[in-house]
Amino acid sequence: YNKRDEIGRFIKGFNTMRDHLKQSIAKQQLYEKNRKELIATISHDLRTPLQSIKGYVEGINDGIVQNEEMKKRYLHVILSKTNQLNRLIDDLFEFSKIDLDQLVMEKQLVSSDECFTNILQDAEVDLKQKQVQLVVKRPIPDVVINIDPKRMEQVFTNLLDNAIRYGASEIEITFAVNVHKMTLEIYIIDNGDGIAEEDTERIFEHFYRGEKSRSRDHGGTGLGLAIVKSIIKAHEGEVWAESKIGQGSKFVIVIPVKLEVTYIYTGSKPD
Ligand code: ADP
Repeated sequence: YNKRDEIGRFIKGFNTMRDHLKQSIAKQQLYEKNRKELIATISHDLRTPLQSIKGYVEGINDGIVQNEEMKKRYLHVILSKTNQLNRLIDDLFEFSKIDLDQLVMEKQLVSSDECFTNILQDAEVDLKQKQVQLVVKRPIPDVVINIDPKRMEQVFTNLLDNAIRYGASEIEITFAVNVHKMTLEIYIIDNGDGIAEEDTERIFEHFYRGEKSRSRDHGGTGLGLAIVKSIIKAHEGEVWAESKIGQGSKFVIVIPVKLEVTYIYTGSKPD
């Protein structure tokens, strides 16, 4: 029994406790800082289109609009800014659910081919309207995956939407799926602006937007990819981007394949 050992142990324990406390305070401070930044960004993103709408409505109200064509132009801006606000609020709502861990997944076993064919079919009309060329590499492998189809559709809606918004003048999107051992790899490749290599990780942070996206007013919120990442994480999967400025972007999603299931329930009994 040694008094000095005891004091030594006491000091060590005390130091550990102090370090923990310091870490926890630092964490709390960072959280507080992020929260403040978040509120500032949201306020800014809500105020900008709202001010623009107000300006155009006042313009019409004050009789500045002299002819039909000008009126049409004013209304077009108002509608587009309203859509932007709508999108921001929708995204915020989705994002708040993610943040509160309330994103409920309704997973079911589905055929990958059927799932992606459905999603692409749903997107087709919109893509045609926007004159986007969609190249689907077939065949799409048919394996069983355990997913929430609605959430998965949201993932592709967000990715396709980005590919269009950050697209070149003639947008071409390639969609391909590969099976690699126990995982399904999904690729969405565009021929758009591309992303700075050092940004490819940060774009998945909430409210992070590329420099150009902010200044050129692409009408985004900086939440789309954060939502994508959370949904893919809830599927025990991973998502990342590979890109360089001016070379288009490639988004890769990897989700597990469920092999243990031998048939999919389609409403009728299997033989
Ligand atoms: P938003 O598009 O609303 O800004 P996202 O979270 O969807 O937010 O994307 C974050 C950022 O990533 C965008 O601001 C943009 O700079 C970049 N980005 C996303 N997808 C693409 C793409 N397909 N091509 C080029 N840049 C992209």
